[in-house]
Amino acid sequence: MRVSIVVPVYNEKENLYLLHRGLTEALNDLSYELVFVDDGSTDESLDKLVKLAEQDTDHVRVIELRRNFGQTAAIAAGIDHAHGEVIVLIDADLQNDPADIPMMLEKIKEGYDVVSGWRVKRQDAFLTRTIPSRIANWLISKVTGVPLHDYGCTLKAYRRDVLAGFHLYGEMHRFIPAYAGGVGARIIEVPVKHHPRRFGKAKYGLERTLKVILDLFTVKFITSYANKPIYIFGGTGLALIFGSFFLLGVLILRRLLFEEHLIRSPLLLMTVMLFILGFQTILLGLIAELLVRTYHESQAKPTYTVRRVIGGDRRES
Ligand code: UDP
Ligand code: MG
Repeated sequence: MRVSIVVPVYNEKENLYLLHRGLTEALNDLSYELVFVDDGSTDESLDKLVKLAEQDTDHVRVIELRRNFGQTAAIAAGIDHAHGEVIVLIDADLQNDPADIPMMLEKIKEGYDVVSGWRVKRQDAFLTRTIPSRIANWLISKVTGVPLHDYGCTLKAYRRDVLAGFHLYGEMHRFIPAYAGGVGARIIEVPVKHHPRRFGKAKYGLERTLKVILDLFTVKFITSYANKPIYIFGGTGLALIFGSFFLLGVLILRRLLFEEHLIRSPLLLMTVMLFILGFQTILLGLIAELLVRTYHESQAKPTYTVRRVIGGDRRES
């Protein structure tokens, strides 16, 4: 089992040697590669990485991005350049502990597809980091139906095949487990150590929570409705049209029973508006259906995922 450790790096010059040493100690008797992605660092991180690649030619690979694309894009680049059957993501800032990795790999060997680190004793600012993250985790768990305590923890291990075909946008790397859950992966959560940041600065603040919540809409849509958008659009449209008929009924009753003029009240306007809106939403759903067909067929992307094929003509895809 070959393991690829993918590390996104943005201005972490003080951490890199220590991280490399920690990883080397933790992984020493395994077959592994370290894929460092320099995400347009403006300090000497890249120089340090190049030196590491020269010293540890057997293990280190460095992917240099042309500019700063953000942590998610850096992770995506790392995954694309990784050769292992198992991919472990870890931050470069030493807040995650490389010593946890062997334990996580054991879980993969036991047959899990995703091993998700959970920072039980999180060492970050309580008000601006820990609290928003608790709320976000609760919300993501409810919406995606994949209950995890710590979506935000980068330290996670994945069997490569569950990542195939999943494209990372925005802040999406944290949603990989939810996506994997959507394609039927076996997921387990394990407590991991967490340390305060010793060197360098944290790159994010509170605004990230907002992005995460917006991304959640996309993820929910992709994992639950990407094959059948008409269900969500059509459902909404039908509900609106139903509302419109209900209001119309109220108007007619009022007209018949109390002889009130239809146009005297704003209800008539609402009836018409709801009807048009409902109709439009259904049409939108039909367009989405067309898009989805193009999406799946242009990429030859099936609407299911196979764990394995037993017997007969066995083919790896
Ligand atoms: N990072 C990156 N590109 C960015 C911002 C961050 O590659 O634009 C890396 C950073 O070097 C670190 C990881 O992503 O390895 C997590 O960053 P940080 O520690 O600031 O985030 P937090 O731990 O606060 O979520
Ligand atoms: Mg950090």
